[in-house]
Amino acid sequence: MTIIAFIGLGNMGGPMAGNLVKAGHTVVGFDFSEEARAAAKAAGVTIAADAKSAAAPADVIVTMLPAGKHVRAVWGELAPVAKKGTLFIDSSTIDVESARAVHRIAGDIGLPSVDAPVSGGTGGAKGATLTFMCGGEEAAFAAAKPILEKMGKKIVHCGGAGAGQAAKICNNMILGISMIAVAEGFVLAEKLGLDRQALFDVASTSSGQCWSLNAYCPVPGPVPTSPANNDYKPGFASALMLKDMKLSQEAAQAAGASTPLGAAATQLYGLHNAWGEGGTDFSGIINLIRGKS
Ligand code: NAD
Repeated sequence: MTIIAFIGLGNMGGPMAGNLVKAGHTVVGFDFSEEARAAAKAAGVTIAADAKSAAAPADVIVTMLPAGKHVRAVWGELAPVAKKGTLFIDSSTIDVESARAVHRIAGDIGLPSVDAPVSGGTGGAKGATLTFMCGGEEAAFAAAKPILEKMGKKIVHCGGAGAGQAAKICNNMILGISMIAVAEGFVLAEKLGLDRQALFDVASTSSGQCWSLNAYCPVPGPVPTSPANNDYKPGFASALMLKDMKLSQEAAQAAGASTPLGAAATQLYGLHNAWGEGGTDFSGIINLIRGKS
């Protein structure tokens, strides 16, 4: 069975590595955090003394780290010690420029690589139901797919280097904007004395329908499973939404794309975080729009 090195065993990486163990792989992991190492060890991951010792015997190296600078540093450290033919996969959410740069680190020494960010959150990581959005050459994607299938349900090849990250941030920019649009609709309805269930019944089957409304409604009641019914417990934390919105704006600036609503939404999530709500679900932005909780 394939030996997999897993670097970054946090809220997402820990359970993902655990699912690779469940699938019968030998997984050798490393994380700076003692707590993360202990949890991964309990899930059957062999803990290495450092990232290099985890990577040296591996056929596949997976990274699940906070940001582009961490991925650049770790791939830069590991590429020189990796075996010939080792496949590099990064599943972190990072800027497109860093994703392309780390593909070059691997490519320059002839190693295949895939950027494979995820959606599905910690629930998807635990349940092996993540969606992977992948960028890289066809052969590298074909090699990564059977590994990713052990951690997710839907694996999509979006294009060349960085295309997975591009798909991830475009999707999340749409989500971030659409949630604010839905929140504004419900706040206006409140001011007009329109019942929220009545607005939901009309808009969720009319041209206003979208995932933020139909599946993740930001007011309690119409969609019983949405975080609004659970005091906006995440779900998808506003701090993570802000991170992704900022990545979309960096990418827009670098690529010369005009994204005025993305820019405005980024500022609003910034305010929501400054309001002390970074740890609550992003749909709680409706309270900021309303001006009160
Ligand atoms: P996390 O902070 O829980 O885990 C990151 C881990 O990386 C930490 O345990 C940290 O100690 C470790 N780390 C940092 N630098 C390291 C290094 N050089 N060597 C070894 N370990 C190192 O974060 P998370 O929630 O697991 O998210 C990981 C990535 O997945 C992020 O890019 C995030 O944006 C993305 N993501 C998260 C979610 C979510 O719901 N949490 C959903 C989709 C995508």
